Amino acid sequence: MEFSFEVVKNDKKTRARRGVIKTAHGQIATPAFSPVATKATLKALDPKDIKKTGSQVVLGNTYHLYLQPGLRVISKFGGFAPFMGWAGPTITDSGGYQVSFLKDYSHKDENDRSGGIIRITDEGAVFRSHIDGGKYLLTPELSMEIQKILGADIIMALDDPESYDRTLKWEERSFTHWKKIKSKQSLFGIVQGGIDPKLRKKSLDFVLSMDFPGIAVGGKTIGADPKITAKALDTIVDLLPEDKPLHALGLGGGPEGIFEAVERGVDIFDNSSVTRMARTGLLFVYPQDGGKRENKFRVDIAKKKYKSEFDPVSKVCKCYTCQNFSMAYINHLFKSHEILAQRLATIHNVTFVNDLMNRTRESIEAGDFLALKSHWLS
Ligand SMILES: [Zn+2]
Repeated sequence: MEFSFEVVKNDKKTRARRGVIKTAHGQIATPAFSPVATKATLKALDPKDIKKTGSQVVLGNTYHLYLQPGLRVISKFGGFAPFMGWAGPTITDSGGYQVSFLKDYSHKDENDRSGGIIRITDEGAVFRSHIDGGKYLLTPELSMEIQKILGADIIMALDDPESYDRTLKWEERSFTHWKKIKSKQSLFGIVQGGIDPKLRKKSLDFVLSMDFPGIAVGGKTIGADPKITAKALDTIVDLLPEDKPLHALGLGGGPEGIFEAVERGVDIFDNSSVTRMARTGLLFVYPQDGGKRENKFRVDIAKKKYKSEFDPVSKVCKCYTCQNFSMAYINHLFKSHEILAQRLATIHNVTFVNDLMNRTRESIEAGDFLALKSHWLS
């Protein structure tokens, strides 16, 4: 068995749990953060940097990698991880999210060659590539085939974030095809249904009936607002099985969102805004640095007030950036549009979130998860 999940310790007061996911490419101590390497790169960082940020796993995007560089190239390398030189565990999404969110929801004219959705039917999603205007049909079966070649340890069933009923059909087809092609990857079923308890429960029951190795929770409610994320997770928390890892797709909301999710049993999550924010100069800070719920635990480093600040971004952070550079220098790099700005900022933000997860894991082990949460959010 190449994939396993084990709970090492349950928090007594909440659903938070400390666990270990084992994959063919190494272990993931959970709860864990997976940074997003959309196009087989965690923008501005190479694999050595990624490792130094404390990252245990990275997530690649099926939609992007399928279109560029394409499966012929990736298959020569035996997957996107060897292609990018990353030796650790990996995850891919199904492509469904990107396809649905191409431009807007307005279905396009068949002959319009700019990127976007043409139509979504029960068969699959017909879309045009945002790169070259080529027309594609993404089906659950194709998503499984693509993800097999991309070679991640954890893969996702194809869902349609906009249609609950279609998601059920597509998940079943994903599961059937995954069995048929005898993929050794671990397929996660996706629980949809927003904040409607009935739909969430129905969706979870369906996923559980198929014995997926793991469960992912997706949809817009897992996005930006921690309160809505908490509400959405509350609809399924008590129904979740003990023996399966729970992945939150695109979990947003910074530290607050992370605490709400971990409290409700989320074992692993990905999020692309951690790195995207870094590239615009939004850097995370600890409570000791003045980070709080109101400022979303972040500073805008390009602001004038940091222009001659001698201190590092965070006095607590152990990252390469904080150990070696002042806020003034990073402010200067952003103001003068130097590419080093993006690398140093990304190193900091990814290290910060990984360190937060490390602290979370330690607090669950020590039995004081809620104390850590209130220290951050009070
Ligand atoms: Zn730092």
